[in-house]
Amino acid sequence: MTEPILSCPTCRETTKQHRAGKNATGTARRECRHCGRTYTPEPKHHGYDLEVRR
Ligand SMILES: [Zn+2]
Repeated sequence: MTEPILSCPTCRETTKQHRAGKNATGTARRECRHCGRTYTPEPKHHGYDLEVRR
């Protein structure tokens, strides 16, 4: 699987964006090791196949 390149919304760094678990709704979160901020990356493009919950 390939993951999109993420950039920190605070410092714009694209490196050292570590996984930081998920929030209550199951959205993946990232932690920037440059500024220490935890954020939720937002998809820039539509077109992802949404999983259907059954
Ligand atoms: Zn940062």
